[in-house]
Amino acid sequence: MKKVVSLFLCALLILGGMLPAYAADGGVIVDGTWSILVPASPTSYETFAAQKLQSGLSEVFGTEIAVVSEPAGHYIAVGSASALDASEIADNGYLIKAVDGNLHLNGAGVRGLQAGAYRLLEEFFGRKVYTADITVLPTAESVQIPADAEISYAPFFEYTDTDWRSPCNAEYSMANGLNGGTYRSLSAEMGGTVNYLGGFCHTMGGLCETAAHKDSNPEQLALHNGERTTDQPCLTDPAVLEIATRNVLNIAAQRHDPNASVQIISVTQNDNYNYCECDRCKAFEAEHGGVQSATMINFVNQIADAVKAAGYDNIAIDTFAYQYTRQAPTGIVPRDNVIVRLCTIECCFCHALDDPSCERNVALMKDLSDWSKICDRIYVWDYTTNYSNTCIVFPDFDVIQRNIQVFYENNVKGVYEEGAYYISWCDTEFGELRAYMIAKSLQEPYCDLDREVDGFLAAYYGPGWENIKTILEKHIASATRKGNHIGIGAGTGQSFDFSEKDVAKIDALWNAAKEAAAENETTLEHVERSELSWRFWKSSERKGEFSILNNKRFDENEKLFEDLQAFGVMGINEGGYGDYLDCICIRYVPANEWRDYEDDEQPAHVRLFFSKVLEFFTPLLTLFGLYYKIACRINADSVGG
Ligand SMILES: [Zn+2]
Ligand SMILES: [Zn+2]
Repeated sequence: MKKVVSLFLCALLILGGMLPAYAADGGVIVDGTWSILVPASPTSYETFAAQKLQSGLSEVFGTEIAVVSEPAGHYIAVGSASALDASEIADNGYLIKAVDGNLHLNGAGVRGLQAGAYRLLEEFFGRKVYTADITVLPTAESVQIPADAEISYAPFFEYTDTDWRSPCNAEYSMANGLNGGTYRSLSAEMGGTVNYLGGFCHTMGGLCETAAHKDSNPEQLALHNGERTTDQPCLTDPAVLEIATRNVLNIAAQRHDPNASVQIISVTQNDNYNYCECDRCKAFEAEHGGVQSATMINFVNQIADAVKAAGYDNIAIDTFAYQYTRQAPTGIVPRDNVIVRLCTIECCFCHALDDPSCERNVALMKDLSDWSKICDRIYVWDYTTNYSNTCIVFPDFDVIQRNIQVFYENNVKGVYEEGAYYISWCDTEFGELRAYMIAKSLQEPYCDLDREVDGFLAAYYGPGWENIKTILEKHIASATRKGNHIGIGAGTGQSFDFSEKDVAKIDALWNAAKEAAAENETTLEHVERSELSWRFWKSSERKGEFSILNNKRFDENEKLFEDLQAFGVMGINEGGYGDYLDCICIRYVPANEWRDYEDDEQPAHVRLFFSKVLEFFTPLLTLFGLYYKIACRINADSVGG
C-alpha cells in the first residue's frame, strides 16, 4: 500500500539581483512585503510554524516579516487560516499549495504543520540544516514559485531516530525529520518526540520479575538445557503473563500522553539465547513454524490486547526479532498495536540488504520479507559504524539510502540507525555526512540524495569538496572489491586494500582538499578531522608515510597520536575511552594496535626494546641497502599472508 504522495514541483529561486523580480510565467513572487497569516486564536503548533516562517523569511529578505491575523497584501496562510482542509491530509503530514497568488500551508497530527513550515523554507528558499552548526539560507530580493506549486507529504515512518552528533539537536531534527525521544528533546509545540516508556530494550527480566520469583515459583523461569534459569521467563506460563501485563499497565498509567502520536512500551527478550524449552513452549512453537518467535508474539499479543482494552489507543507494544526470535512464526499474527523490531547486527554494510549477491544479507532479507507478510508495523534497529575500528572509514555510503528504501518497501514503520553514539570522544571520519544522509533518507527515502550529499560536502568541507567525494568513492570501490564484505567490526586490512599507488593518489586528493579549505578555519578543521581516518588506516596497514621503507615512520606515528588527541579523540573504538592513551609503543606499532601495549604489560616492554634497537640501526641499515632488502622480504611475506 503506497499511501505516500510526495510531489516535488519545480521551485525557481531568484537569488538577490540575479534575475528580474517579476513573474514571467505568472508564478507567485514572494518578497519582503509578504506577511504570515495566522488565525485570530492560533494553536501552539500554528504559532510555532508561523514564527519559523517569519524568522526564515526575515533572514532571506533582510527585513522584518510580520505575523498578522487579518490579510493585508500577499501572505503565507498557516493552519486554519489557510484554505486547505486538514482532514484531507495524512497523519503528521502536510500540504503546501499556491492559491490565487498566495501560499497556503496546513498540516495534520502533532507535527505535520511544523514539518510543513520547515519544508516550505527548504523547498522554495533553499534553507538547509546540514549540521547543528551549519544552516544555509540564501538571501534574495524576491523568490519565484510556480503558480500551481503543490507539495503533499505523508511521513514514510512514524518513528525515526539516530544517535550521531547533530541529530541530537532539536533544530536539526525538526528540519530533517527525526522524532525519536531517546536522543533528542522536542518541545510540545514542536510536536514532541516518539518515546519508549520504560526501557528501550532487553526489558523482559524486569517486566516479568523473573529474578524475584526464582525460588518461590521456579516454573516461571525458562527451562533451558534441563535447568530453570533467570536468563529468560517461560512465556507460556499464565502467571508470568499476568505479572508482565500488570507492569506494562503500570507504566502506561504513569506515562501515558494522550496527545502523543505514538508511545511505545518495550517487551523485549534479555540479551542471551537461554529461551524456555519446556514442553508447553515447545509444543506451541512446533505448531507455529518451529521458531521461538511464536511464543514471543503470542505473549506480547496478549499484553497488547490488555493495553488496548484499557483504552490506551496510542500505545504500542514493542518486541524484538533478534537472534533466536529473528525468524517469523506461522499461524500467528502480531496485533496492530504490536511492533516487531528487527536487528541487522549480522549484516554486511558495503552491499545493500537486497543485493542478492551478498550472502550475509540474503538471510536477513528473507526474515524481513517473512515478517512483512504478517506484520504491518515492523521497526528496524540498524547499524552505521565500525564498532571495532571506529577511526577508519565505514564504507556504507552507497547503501544507506537503498537500505532505508528496502525498509519502507517491507512494511517498516520505524527506524533506529545506531551509529557511533560515542562520537563526542571518537570522531575522525565522516560522521556528520553520514548523519545527514541517514536523516534525509528517513525523511524522503526517494530523494535525490546525490544532490543532498553534494550540497552538504560543499557547505562542510568548502571549495575542495569534490576531492572528498572522490576519496569516498575510492573507499567504496575498495571495500566492495570481489568477495569482500563489511560487518560492523571489520578489520582495517579487510576494510580496504589500497596499493601504494592508490595511497599516493588519495594523499594528493586530501592535500588538494586542505589547500582549498585553508582560508576558512572551520572548514579546514573539518577536512583535517576527516583526514585522521585516512592517516589512521595508513598507520594500521603500514602504507604511505607509515611504510617500513620510510625512516621517518616513527615520527609519523607520534604525530598521528598527538593530532588525534588535539582533535579530542580519546578512544579508537566503542568502549575504548582512554584505552590507547597509555600505550608505550605509540612510535612503533600500527595505530590499530595501540590499545594492546600498555605500560603494565611485559610484552609491551619487550616490543618497545626491540623497536628501539631497530630504530637505532635504521640509518645504518639504510646505508648498506640491507634494510631495503629486509623490508621488501617482510612486505612480500605480509602480502603473501
Ligand atoms: Zn516454557
Ligand atoms: Zn556483502
